[in-house]
Amino acid sequence: MGIEIDTGVEKFLWEYGVSVQTGELPLQPTTRLDAVFVTHAHLDHSAMLPHLYRIGYRGSVYGDPATFGFTSILYRDYLKLQKRFGFPLNFLIEDVKRMERNIRFLRPGESEDFTASTIRFHNAGHIPGSVMIELETHGKHILFTGDVKFIDTRLMTGAVKKFENIDVIISESTYHYTNHPDRKGLEREFRKVVCETIENGGICLIPAFAVGRTQELLLMLEDLDYPIYLDGMGIHATESVLRHPKSIRDHKKLQRAFSKAHKIRRSVERERILKKPSVIITTAGMLNGGPVVYYMERLHDREDSSIVLTGYQVEGTAGRTLLDTGRFVVNDMDIKPKMKIFFFDFSAHTDRNHLLEFYNKVCPEKILLIHGEKTDEFAKELKNMGFDAYAPSNGETFKLI
Ligand SMILES: [Zn+2]
Ligand SMILES: [Zn+2]
Repeated sequence: MGIEIDTGVEKFLWEYGVSVQTGELPLQPTTRLDAVFVTHAHLDHSAMLPHLYRIGYRGSVYGDPATFGFTSILYRDYLKLQKRFGFPLNFLIEDVKRMERNIRFLRPGESEDFTASTIRFHNAGHIPGSVMIELETHGKHILFTGDVKFIDTRLMTGAVKKFENIDVIISESTYHYTNHPDRKGLEREFRKVVCETIENGGICLIPAFAVGRTQELLLMLEDLDYPIYLDGMGIHATESVLRHPKSIRDHKKLQRAFSKAHKIRRSVERERILKKPSVIITTAGMLNGGPVVYYMERLHDREDSSIVLTGYQVEGTAGRTLLDTGRFVVNDMDIKPKMKIFFFDFSAHTDRNHLLEFYNKVCPEKILLIHGEKTDEFAKELKNMGFDAYAPSNGETFKLI
């Protein structure tokens, strides 16, 4: 995803990532940009930033320090995977380094002035480092939500909701069609599944995204008296979050939870931990690769054990196939696990009611809907509620103010 903004004086680019659903690359922007801004480290928002430097951009890229802590890990991991699997290459390590030399930190509550405009960041409550971008230009205010969550979670303080004078909202709309179940109730059920598995003598395998979800899970399980193992990229991601204490709600609590968890630093240690009941939090969150594949190979036959998916599973991933068909299909493996399969959606995105509440509170002149499916249907609904709403398609250009 990427949004090119032309104020008449400056040209900005907000985000530059790949589609998580299709792997589709974004359109190429002009390289005559005055500045680039990134809302957070998830790959649909950040994966292509080094590519800008490959095609000749030499200006600054602004983001929260925690965001760049994550991207430093993610880009290097991407390059390692690229070497192993040989998929098309969008950038080289020198592009990553060139980008990193041009990083400018901007934190929530801070702003940067340009000739005809000011850019201000606000907390977005989605993952550590996530921000909303406000642009003030020619007396008008445009707010881009990035990915946003308005309620507090264990890890994050909810997004800023109070704005004055916003004329246009460019809004994510991932869950415009539904509301999330009560979070506290969901956490209780989740903890029950974990405890029951271990009391049964089994292993509770929890695949999780390294960035955000792994830390949230550590906090949810912090007070349980069971061995918790952490394997894969979630270890480095958590260390990175801890280096940015202001990016989360309770740094000390995460520090405590992280010290309590046993880290698997070498693959030979994996065999040993399967001998006793425990919780294993590991990557990849959608089961497409990483250490979770090893654990599935070893645990799938055990009826006393369980696999607990904790995030949205994109169509075409092994995680989605497991939920839809009960089969684990990855590489040349196709098995029907005997272990129990659970799904809890601890979403880091806002749901429908909170989106509507936000629009009603901010009361913009116009709402543009992106980052969701069937956004045109939601635009129609919003129109019926009295908003001027529109769902632009990829590559479309129009006048915002
Ligand atoms: Zn995100
Ligand atoms: Zn996203």
